[in-house]
Amino acid sequence: MQYTQIKKTDPQIYQIIKAEEKRQREGLELIPSENYTSDAVMEAMGSILTNKYSEGYPRKRYYGGQKNIDAMEELAQRRALDLFVPQGSQKNWHINVQPLSGSPANIAVLLALLNFGDKVMGMSLDQGGHLTHGHPVNFSGKAYKFFQYGVRRDNQQIDYNEVEKIAFKIKPKMIISGATAYPRMIDFKRFNAIAKKVGAIHMADIAHIAGLIAGGVHPSPFPFTDVVTTTTHKTLRGPRGGVIFCQKKYASAIDRAVFPGLQGGPHDHINAAKAVCFGEAQKAGFAKYAAQIVKNSKVFAKELKKLGFSLVSDGSDNHLILIDLSNFEITGKIAQETLDKVGITVNKNTVPFGKRSPFDPSGIRLGTAACTTRGMKENDFAMITDLIKNALSNICNEKKLIKIKQQVKKLALKFPVPGIK
Ligand SMILES: *Cc1c(COP(=O)(O)O)cnc(C)c1O
Repeated sequence: MQYTQIKKTDPQIYQIIKAEEKRQREGLELIPSENYTSDAVMEAMGSILTNKYSEGYPRKRYYGGQKNIDAMEELAQRRALDLFVPQGSQKNWHINVQPLSGSPANIAVLLALLNFGDKVMGMSLDQGGHLTHGHPVNFSGKAYKFFQYGVRRDNQQIDYNEVEKIAFKIKPKMIISGATAYPRMIDFKRFNAIAKKVGAIHMADIAHIAGLIAGGVHPSPFPFTDVVTTTTHKTLRGPRGGVIFCQKKYASAIDRAVFPGLQGGPHDHINAAKAVCFGEAQKAGFAKYAAQIVKNSKVFAKELKKLGFSLVSDGSDNHLILIDLSNFEITGKIAQETLDKVGITVNKNTVPFGKRSPFDPSGIRLGTAACTTRGMKENDFAMITDLIKNALSNICNEKKLIKIKQQVKKLALKFPVPGIK
């Protein structure tokens, strides 16, 4: 992107964009929910489609002039179905590409399929779940009666027996599977079996792992769910946005919940960018990218363990790693701040059964998707491991940290960032 106009008309925002370009180019991005979109996705996002208002759905709009927007939205729908849903079962599935992001997608499903106060199950935030899976500060936790499950103490993996026990006891109307800080594969089949035994709707939230599922390196929830929600901007590498897939019988309830229930006009420029992203994910290179994410995570986890880091669940099957720093005698907050100083971006995170507050928890969360998009491979992640260990062993040594920052920059600059010239 060139920013020639904004440079002239709004130098303040131009400077901020340029400074952020420098940060992204010279640093190592390890936040597992982040990624770099392609130039094509950015072109769609920056297109004149942003000028249109198109409340409603293709061929059922409230305003005129929708010929091109309808074609775009139908293409986005078609591509998303082709990407995620096996040919044979596509006739059973409906898709809504209008949710503005992952959280509004989840809230729309709750609004569509439940009554306020209904019982729902979701994974608790401090064990890996998302805010919209029933946290008390979130709309989900305020409007519905959530019961939370978590992970086992011994292996820190989802406690499916506990899920089943709670489900039998409370008879929820819906069970949500999916997580935001969970380094292992999710057994959607098992979740579905439990949901069916108690007559609950099974909703899978694949926000983090959608790219891995599309790339064929994580089992798909599609044979085993009633509803699937996702973001489009994490491992899927598209624009910021959300999508809802549902069994046909829920189609009109879901569509009405998104609009007019929750949202107004769809963001057509973003939905076009979603279509571009789904198209990119159908190309051959995408499966290779997804496979490389997991390969990188495996090596990253192995190297971190070699250097004495303790990992939640002792490893990773996906794009994400949670380090429990308790044995290093530093907190997640200090680790995040120290790594920020050297240009390595991570986020502090609770670890299951951790004793510290969410504002200064015991862990940090790392992911391999963004650096994989830049082209980094196993040996680069071995280097990143050394840089992390070095920084966290020198938190008070500013001179040393400056040196490490130079090493980070040197490694990062070997790999271009899409969209930054
Ligand atoms: C990121 C995430 C979301 C929400 O996405 P936003 O786009 O940030 O609203 C929902 N569910 C899960 C599991 C997530 O990881």
